[in-house]
Amino acid sequence: MLTKRYHIPVDELVDSGEVFGMKAKVKPKVKLKVKMDWKKTKRDFEQLLNWSLKTFPHLPWRTHREPYTTLVSEIMLQQTTVPTVMNYFHPFLHKFPTIKALARASEEEVLIAWKGLGYYRRARLLHAAARGFVERFEGKIPTDFESLKSVSGIGDYTAHALRSIGHDLPSISVDANLARVLARYFGLDPKPASDKKFRAQLESLYFENNHLSSLSARDFNESLMDLGRTYCTASKMQCGECPLQKSCQAASVTETEREKRYGKAASDILKKVKREKPLELHLIRVLVKKGPQILAYQKEKGEWLVGQRELPTYILKCDDEKLKQYPVVPKNLEQKISKKVKFETFRTSITKYKITNILLEMKEEEWMQLGLKNHFSKLSWISPKAPESNLSTASLKALK
Ligand code: SF4
Repeated sequence: MLTKRYHIPVDELVDSGEVFGMKAKVKPKVKLKVKMDWKKTKRDFEQLLNWSLKTFPHLPWRTHREPYTTLVSEIMLQQTTVPTVMNYFHPFLHKFPTIKALARASEEEVLIAWKGLGYYRRARLLHAAARGFVERFEGKIPTDFESLKSVSGIGDYTAHALRSIGHDLPSISVDANLARVLARYFGLDPKPASDKKFRAQLESLYFENNHLSSLSARDFNESLMDLGRTYCTASKMQCGECPLQKSCQAASVTETEREKRYGKAASDILKKVKREKPLELHLIRVLVKKGPQILAYQKEKGEWLVGQRELPTYILKCDDEKLKQYPVVPKNLEQKISKKVKFETFRTSITKYKITNILLEMKEEEWMQLGLKNHFSKLSWISPKAPESNLSTASLKALK
């Protein structure tokens, strides 16, 4: 089963705070509830690595590796499921086969190739990182943490992933999966992956007496990611199937106790720490057709989905009065909606907003009469099916 892989907030990608376990001279000592038999631990992890190597060799980013392909896959996999990334990884590399090709591309080309993966900020960060590596390191991806972090677009997590998975150097890239599995294994109180102290503690356990850090860092990180999305998920622990079951602290307690300390309820508490309450947003999307073409406008800097095109869109109502992403619906358009006519609607979401989209189709003459074109600069007629039209996912949904 290939389900969610990472749950790391995109903001973590540009986290510029203290580099855990790297700048700190003294690593925080972790008080474990039981004394570890490190030799046994290492043996269990060797089994875990073997299981992962045998079970998941087919993942496309594992069949042919170089640091550049790891950079692409690691950024794609943040907040996107493994099956989805499997569909986009090779086409993206086909378009940008080298880091230099990616650095040369325009932002629009990169966003078009990213279409379908969502969270477009990651595409911009990847693009910025490629340009940084080309400008500063002649297209090579360095091995040391500080150099990696000095490149725009590379945060702590990605720097650790490039060191461990890209270069196979001792490092751990702690996302929600790793944080959860290692907390269960070592019997630690669960904490979110964004907790720097917790990440530093996990790192100190990884480096403890060189038992775990002497294993292949690449295989170590990837096997924990594999375990975190299969047998040891946030909602379910299938300890009977797990290669770590012999020495896992969570597996050594009763099922009731395990569920209480590490199960879904414990994960939900962590999610609450991270999640903001969703806000309701109602948008009117105006569809104006002329033959095979439609009217769309390009999103500008400071707006959501910058660089992409959307149908002319207005805010009808929103829980967040400060939201300025779209113009507020003008009276003459609102009146059309308030008449008791049933309009087609569909739901989407972006960041913390749950969106109800109301689709309003009108003729070009009506559009002109209502004076709506004045609300949008960069408005043009486009062919929606052409990839270069770069229509947003919500606008594409509106056309279905
Ligand atoms: S034994 Fe159970 S709790 Fe421990 S790592 Fe495996 S699945 Fe998770």
